[in-house]
Amino acid sequence: MLDKFDREINYLRVSITDRCNLRCRYCRPKEDFSLQGHQDILRYEEIIRVVRIAVKMGLIKIRVTGGEPLVRRGVVDFLASLKNITGLRDISLTTNGILLEQFACAIFATGVHRINISLDSLNKKKYSYITGGGNLDAVLRGIAKAEEAGFSPIKINTVAIKGFNDDEVLAFSRLAIDKPFQVRFIELMPLGKAQSNQNPDYLPTSQVLEKINSQYTLEAIPGKTQKSDGPARRFRIKGGLGEIGFINPVSNHFCSSCNRLRLTADGKLLACLLQPEEIDLKAALRQNCGDAELENIISGAILSKPKHHDLDCSDNNLKKCRRDMSAIGG
Ligand code: SAM
Repeated sequence: MLDKFDREINYLRVSITDRCNLRCRYCRPKEDFSLQGHQDILRYEEIIRVVRIAVKMGLIKIRVTGGEPLVRRGVVDFLASLKNITGLRDISLTTNGILLEQFACAIFATGVHRINISLDSLNKKKYSYITGGGNLDAVLRGIAKAEEAGFSPIKINTVAIKGFNDDEVLAFSRLAIDKPFQVRFIELMPLGKAQSNQNPDYLPTSQVLEKINSQYTLEAIPGKTQKSDGPARRFRIKGGLGEIGFINPVSNHFCSSCNRLRLTADGKLLACLLQPEEIDLKAALRQNCGDAELENIISGAILSKPKHHDLDCSDNNLKKCRRDMSAIGG
């Protein structure tokens, strides 16, 4: 599946729900509460059908996300069905970890062994503040359970937020020394609730890297080994068991190697996270269209992929994205 700019598109992020058990301040704060109805959300069979067709077209990698994927009933069976799709080589899950202690073993048993856990603070009060009441201990128990179950890699994703967690950079780094975790610092994107031309909470990951470098010796891990590798710049702290990664969608976008499409919980196909255009796959699915037609729609989405987004926090030209991450599928 090549797009107009010769990028191979082989990765799909699928949001299976717009519901979330947290209310992160920059994503979906408490007052924002318009949820989609049951009928509006793609059924698991519909998602599986889309994935099967996309795999025939060249898809090899999928990430299941949300909202919070673990709040949707039947998620474990859904993951097991994905595992049965021949040709789908890489299945991973992104979760906030709140329910992970309960689900880790069952998910691992489906054969899905790659997991990303979002965690923006290691301080109980701050975690509760940023997530609108989340319980840090539950997440830490979830991470421990995932480790015990055997997940590998375990990626800890931390959105770098100025004045909030810049003082925790070294504490997060220590996680990648003591444990085989991949701790990744991600720049805050001006989406949904985080939109603002000034973007006062934005912290470039270059500053995070500087801070880590002042304390530890970072050794770069050589570039991509596989086409399905993610956009993180990866490092090892000398003597550490894990890795540190930096994902810079704002300061240094990685659009030239973007290999992904996104499917929202309500069945919209997005060619780019930061473009407002959405292709209504659900309407086609529910009008009983054939596989060939669905293939055409997916090809159309791929061909509509822009060369790059025009998100730039340093100027006033910010292109705003209508949805927040929890509605797109982060
Ligand atoms: N509930 C799951 C979780 O917490 O991982 C999956 C969905 S959540 C929207 C996925 C990720 O998107 C989280 O790590 C969250 O921090 C991140 N995210 C949300 N809004 C963001 C933004 N404006 N910029 C960067 N990351 C964002």
